[in-house]
Amino acid sequence: MKKSFICSNCGRPVSFSAPGTHHRNHCPYCLSSVHVDNFPGDRKSSCGGKMYVLGKVLKPDGEEMLIHKCEKCGITKKNRIAGDDSFKLVEGLAVLDETALGL
Ligand SMILES: [Zn+2]
Ligand SMILES: [Zn+2]
Repeated sequence: MKKSFICSNCGRPVSFSAPGTHHRNHCPYCLSSVHVDNFPGDRKSSCGGKMYVLGKVLKPDGEEMLIHKCEKCGITKKNRIAGDDSFKLVEGLAVLDETALGL
């Protein structure tokens, strides 16, 4: 089992284990992701497109979730923020309207 991967966007090594989430699915340094899951953690998608961060949404309990969009197939996905994600980047993201995104 691989313990880390190289981010396809910024090229930095990223550990699979992340505080606050069971499924590391994005890079904590640049917040980019790759479309590999149909459902979180299943690694069943054959798309493989690069997913970039559109912004974030706020859950009713105040938790922030990242919104990723796939460059290749256009799908948008909600992702939990990991404990070691770049706080500066997350802070600077636009807050999106979840209902307008159709999530
Ligand atoms: Zn990265
Ligand atoms: Zn895709």
